[in-house]
Amino acid sequence: MTIQDQDQELHAFLYFSEEAALEPSGSGPLSGVSIALKDNLCVKDWPTTAGSRMLANFRPPYTATVVERLRASGARLLGKTNLDEFAMGSSTENSAFGPTRNPWDLERVPGGSSGGSAAAVAAGMCDMALGTDTGGSIRQPAAFCGITGLKPSYGRVSRYGLIAYGSSLDQIGPMAYSAADCARLLQVIAGPDPLDSTCYQVACPDFAAEMAVEPKGLRLGWDPALVKDLNAEMRENFEAGLQVYRDLGVQLVEVSLPHLEYSLPAYYLIATAEASSNLARYDGVRYGHRAEGARDVGSMMSRSREEGLGTEVKRRIMLGTYALSSGYYDAYYAQAQKMRTVLRQDFDQAFASVDAFALPTTPAPAFKIGEKSADPLSMYLSDVYTVVANLTGLPAISHPSGFLAGLPVGLQLMAPVWQEGRLLQLSHHFQQRTSYHQMRPQGARPAEV
Ligand code: GLN
Repeated sequence: MTIQDQDQELHAFLYFSEEAALEPSGSGPLSGVSIALKDNLCVKDWPTTAGSRMLANFRPPYTATVVERLRASGARLLGKTNLDEFAMGSSTENSAFGPTRNPWDLERVPGGSSGGSAAAVAAGMCDMALGTDTGGSIRQPAAFCGITGLKPSYGRVSRYGLIAYGSSLDQIGPMAYSAADCARLLQVIAGPDPLDSTCYQVACPDFAAEMAVEPKGLRLGWDPALVKDLNAEMRENFEAGLQVYRDLGVQLVEVSLPHLEYSLPAYYLIATAEASSNLARYDGVRYGHRAEGARDVGSMMSRSREEGLGTEVKRRIMLGTYALSSGYYDAYYAQAQKMRTVLRQDFDQAFASVDAFALPTTPAPAFKIGEKSADPLSMYLSDVYTVVANLTGLPAISHPSGFLAGLPVGLQLMAPVWQEGRLLQLSHHFQQRTSYHQMRPQGARPAEV
């Protein structure tokens, strides 16, 4: 069975490249490794849709830095994966091209917005994938699909060629079965880039070397108040995960993150505000869909946006425009920015006494397709544990921590800025002791490398 056949059921991919099939793979650190790219990453002359009708026929004139680096590393680029439109969503149901299914249960969502990348890795259609994470879009689908996904520190990876959603939050990161594979992929994509002035100007450490160090003696913080409202099975899963860390000689320390409950409202104000500004460029003039037959420029622009953008994207543009409007700016956007500072202070304080912080990735395993699509607020609530890493710019990883009724569950770790190596170190040693990350859903292709 080809990957295309396998994808009939899952719909993880929006585009399969011919290049990968034709070209022998190059030499380099990822020689022969097959990689799928989330379809909000520009590749010259490849369709790049961001899951939107607006960009259905867009072929970028240039290639994202991360993709250039993958090519130079010898990787085989398989194609582009499905996502929520402009990365706005938690289920991949907001794609204009139809949803992706979770390979563990075809009735369920793979998470989002990098749901296509997570499903493709979980089903063994590729060895690794790139996702993007503005509020959890790497970590939440990784948790729902039983794989490992890392959101790097803000500024660790170049975003040149990434279709912007929330510019103060967006990061590109690796998704793979194991932390060790995430380390290999991160090593290739991370580091300074003259084409992205928000990319940190300091060379990266050797992530594999940092990962290999025994975590014995590290201090891992957690806040019991954050898990008290979880249902009993999710809480037990989380506590069992902490126990694995204790068994590794990691010291568990209770610390308090008193303002975490404000992160979700702050995130949905800031993300929608930035989205409303970033998406102003899709006006039917510069590029993207243009409505036919309009009488004047104004109606051409509004009709192009009416036809080209989906319901959730329009909702966010309206919410964001409202939050930024002069009468409400101070009450919403400015308050949300202040909360962001408070959250960062909470973490700075926590990291004075611990080396990393553990929390669940999601409040529950993958939900059913259609279950939350009529209620945006319940969809937003699935991001309750992930958005804080984006608001604070801190790195965070989700790794598999077990199964509930056959569905994968993830455990999330956060670390001080630039400490991706510590997240990989902890996750890798967790994976030396457990085999959750090696479980494959039925019908998965066996690993090739
Ligand atoms: N689910 C969140 C949102 O819809 C996060 C999305 C993302 O990280 N791209 O905004």
